[in-house]
Amino acid sequence: MEAKQGLLYEHEECIRRENKIAYFSMEICVDSKIPTYSGGLGVLAGDTIRSSADLGVPLIGITLLYKKGYLRQKLDEQGLQHELPEEWNPQEELVQLPARIQVEIEKRKVVVQSWIYMVKGVDGSNVPVYFLDTDLPENSEFDRSLSYYLYGGDDRYRLAQEIVLGIGGVRMLKELGYQDILRYHMNEGHASLLALELLNNSNNTQNHQWDIEQVKKRCVFTTHTPVPAGMDQFSYQLAEQVLGDIIPYDLLKSLAGEEKLNMTQLALNLSHYINGVAKKHSIVSQEMFPGHHIGSITNGIHSPTWIGQYFAELYDRYIPGWKSDPFSLRYALNIPDDEVWNAHQKGKEELIDYINRLTNYEFNKDVLTIGFARRATAYKRADLIFYDLNRLIDIASIKGQIQLVFAGKAHPKDTPGKELIQRIIDASRNLSLKKSIKIVYLENYNMDLGKILTCGVDLWLNTPRKPQEASGTSGMKAAHNGIPSFSILDGWWVEGCIEGITGWSIGSAANLESIEEEEADSLYQKLETEIMPAYYDKRSLWINIMRHCIAINASFFNTHRMVLQYVSNAYLYSK
Ligand SMILES: *Cc1c(COP(=O)(O)O)cnc(C)c1O
Repeated sequence: MEAKQGLLYEHEECIRRENKIAYFSMEICVDSKIPTYSGGLGVLAGDTIRSSADLGVPLIGITLLYKKGYLRQKLDEQGLQHELPEEWNPQEELVQLPARIQVEIEKRKVVVQSWIYMVKGVDGSNVPVYFLDTDLPENSEFDRSLSYYLYGGDDRYRLAQEIVLGIGGVRMLKELGYQDILRYHMNEGHASLLALELLNNSNNTQNHQWDIEQVKKRCVFTTHTPVPAGMDQFSYQLAEQVLGDIIPYDLLKSLAGEEKLNMTQLALNLSHYINGVAKKHSIVSQEMFPGHHIGSITNGIHSPTWIGQYFAELYDRYIPGWKSDPFSLRYALNIPDDEVWNAHQKGKEELIDYINRLTNYEFNKDVLTIGFARRATAYKRADLIFYDLNRLIDIASIKGQIQLVFAGKAHPKDTPGKELIQRIIDASRNLSLKKSIKIVYLENYNMDLGKILTCGVDLWLNTPRKPQEASGTSGMKAAHNGIPSFSILDGWWVEGCIEGITGWSIGSAANLESIEEEEADSLYQKLETEIMPAYYDKRSLWINIMRHCIAINASFFNTHRMVLQYVSNAYLYSK
């Protein structure tokens, strides 16, 4: 009761702050107990909010409540994925607020309420996150169901959810008492209907001019998708049915595309600052959207969240103050070899114990352990390392053993993604009698498992098909724990890779698009001639690489640096 009073008091304080930034995201991962995220986008949003709280940036998070989460993954003996709802109780994690607003969906009035979660920074600053919820008895079954699943249902379901997020979000902030919001930040196109609501609000002058320039001034857009297929698009027929005529359709079409209601297009046309999430991604996006200037702010991760217990203790001793100033991780170069190695081995033992409790593969803490965890979808190519299975087996039997640990969920409708999981589990079974190589696929990848993996493996593998990886952040988590990456030169790794110093590249930087055979060959060659010899025979060289991961990459690829770039390039000083 007292805690709730305190929270409501802090909430009032947040409303009164100056220079408020409203940050809208379809998914936000504020806490591992609140499963309203599917992957990178939601984890990034959560890390952005955590760093903003640490830095005292007056951000406000807006997202949707999903009572059945994204999905709980079960894998059967055959490697088939089964999806179960991820049930949780909002009452236990969030505080319900009395404010109510309405939005119109298919001409029905839909009532929306919100729940609050307060993210606390290291120095006591707060960032409130509001979860919008339509699961109220006043609403129809369909409208209530909008608060069940993240990325569930069809286009109609998705567009209706985006009305709640974009239009409902702006109205809810007003209803809660927020005034003078300096900027609205759309984290990916899902939220871009917010700009239409602002446009509508701008139209209350006598001469009925839509003040596009005024809306643009207030909006910031971050794109996360380097391929057109990944963008949210709806037919205008569906839009008319679901959205109704919130603004004249000729105006809407001039902003969101003639053929389809393209949420990315809409956000591009109504934002004054637009950015991609890595240098390379900005260049790719600039080619896709030639009429707009695409800036670049490379993603990061929230250092205190993703650094494991043993490295955190080590940094506390050698780099006091690193939590509020992760740039100081630069000084990791002074930490002695044995201290780095011991901290790593303790994190690794936890992972190995975890695997050995769940499976009977009997993983060993002295064997080179390679991790790969991400969304199971075709372009991420989790199976590139099995391109020539016999070659991999030969390398492992000559150079030392290898353990591979995989994790990742496939979207329920992504059949190729599900087949990818099956292929890995097949390979795992086929190799189960070999001594030199072991493979395990762990179920239900989420934030907690992500942390165990990025604290516990020796090498972080990433093999996306170029140029489809916008940024990637899991390799940054590994770097914070002294774990080198071994990756295709795409996304953040173009910036983070210093060959043989922070990890290794796979394939040539010169190829703009992936050539599978060349990349597989490069992978095997480096594994055999550089990585395995360094791990097994040149321990102090390996530890030196670990230290450079921290000093060079963790000190830069964190959300403190990223949020400060948003503040100076997009929020405060942009035109
Ligand atoms: C960090 C994280 C991601 C994003 O990592 P990528 O490298 O972009 O795949 C996705 N899912 C979970 C659970 C994570 O912790």
